[in-house]
Amino acid sequence: STSAALLLQQYKRKKAIQRIPPRPIELRAEEIGNGMIGLIGNTPLIRINSLSDALGVEIMGKCEFLNPGGSVKDRVALRIIEDAEADGLLHPHTGSVLFEGTVGSTGISLATVGRAKGYECCIIMPDDVAIEKVQVLEKLGARVERVRPASYVDEKQFVNMARKRAHEFGRKELVSHCSAEDSDETQPDLLVTISQTPADSSRNSSITDFSFPSSSTSTRPATPLETSPHPSRSPSPPPVSRSGRTRVRFNPSASASAIAAAQRPRGFFCDQFENQSNFDAHYHGTGPEILRQTSGNLDAFVSGAGTGGTISGTGKYLKEHVRGVKVVMSDPEGSGLYNKVKYNVMYDSKESEGKKRRHQVDTVVEGIGINRITHNFAQGLDIIDDAYRITDVEAVAMSRYLVTHNGLYLGSSSACNLVASVRLAKKLGKGARIVTILCDSGSRHQSKFWSDDYLAKNGIEITPSLIDDMLAS
Ligand code: PMP
Repeated sequence: STSAALLLQQYKRKKAIQRIPPRPIELRAEEIGNGMIGLIGNTPLIRINSLSDALGVEIMGKCEFLNPGGSVKDRVALRIIEDAEADGLLHPHTGSVLFEGTVGSTGISLATVGRAKGYECCIIMPDDVAIEKVQVLEKLGARVERVRPASYVDEKQFVNMARKRAHEFGRKELVSHCSAEDSDETQPDLLVTISQTPADSSRNSSITDFSFPSSSTSTRPATPLETSPHPSRSPSPPPVSRSGRTRVRFNPSASASAIAAAQRPRGFFCDQFENQSNFDAHYHGTGPEILRQTSGNLDAFVSGAGTGGTISGTGKYLKEHVRGVKVVMSDPEGSGLYNKVKYNVMYDSKESEGKKRRHQVDTVVEGIGINRITHNFAQGLDIIDDAYRITDVEAVAMSRYLVTHNGLYLGSSSACNLVASVRLAKKLGKGARIVTILCDSGSRHQSKFWSDDYLAKNGIEITPSLIDDMLAS
């Protein structure tokens, strides 16, 4: 009947008014990523509502877990590979293998970016790292070698093993491919620029350890495969890049056999701890992004340190561009970095410097906390203003609190950063603005940090109310 039709019409009209219009989806050409690596970086900042509302301080997280490889380390993997390519040390699709010693995230990023760019990947890690990281690596086609956790002075330690493996691979392949006519003699032909200060030679082992002839200032004796460029052919003075790193460039008129020699498969030790490209990824990426996203309206930047690349690179850039900004480190218990920042000593008084120590710290938090000063951390040491030591119980409590209140499922280092941010917020007072790094998601940490069983077995309590107390006090 007409009255029924009228009622239906009225009902539909009312519904239409109530219905929230769908969010417009605008696909803009510049938003189409150029392959997988086009999605790396430019991550959003989010306001952590629960903590910010409770404290009256804006606490913002940089969503590094949204990188395509799932962590902040995508930036570093990309920069390491592209710098090595620019230096003539790597060529895609030549069978070259990336080697790295890592507790997980960097390996996954190297395997992901490596795949996209045409490199094989071999990851060496301690055998007590969360198993899901190994599984992801294997699915990505990386070779995984798990070694017994060892002291960092031990040659079987995972980073030292990775360096050794890369070196062996490079040698083996180069020696087996080398014929008399294209060995030593062609190398100087190929390279036009090699510069390295004596200070650099000790740290940039990814470049000096294998591959091309190193430099005339190298402290190591030249081997047949590492001859210095012929003095008469090398340009003088050799240019030095901004960072002072070794630059190796191809001679455009190099002979075909020299180019073929350069494109042999080789092992490349990525060396995230000492490689300048790590710092640069953050100095030129993460730092400028945060400046842009906050318009420089920022009181503090909070980050943990594993290699130190994030805190040093981002922190240094922000210090240079935001007046009065504080750079604050979150450090898990057992890590030596806290003492270094607070008291300029690496070891507790009970311990001696010579003691063999584990490189990784004994904590359920993975990825941050370390017992030595790396090149990438050292670069930021003078700009870190303060540090907070975070317990496993606090980090676990924060992670559970954030899921409950914000639906944020984060990894262990992100949880540490947020505990440190809360402590700092209380010190800075209402109205302050803090940015921290949300390094990766909880899915990378299911079998340890997010496993109630694992925590119970290791005597770590799950007490999210701790965060309520922390916010209320
Ligand atoms: N969080 C996670 C999950 C990591 O894997 C790492 C790197 N080891 C970090 C934080 C620390 O970053 P950085 O190496 O730049 O100090």
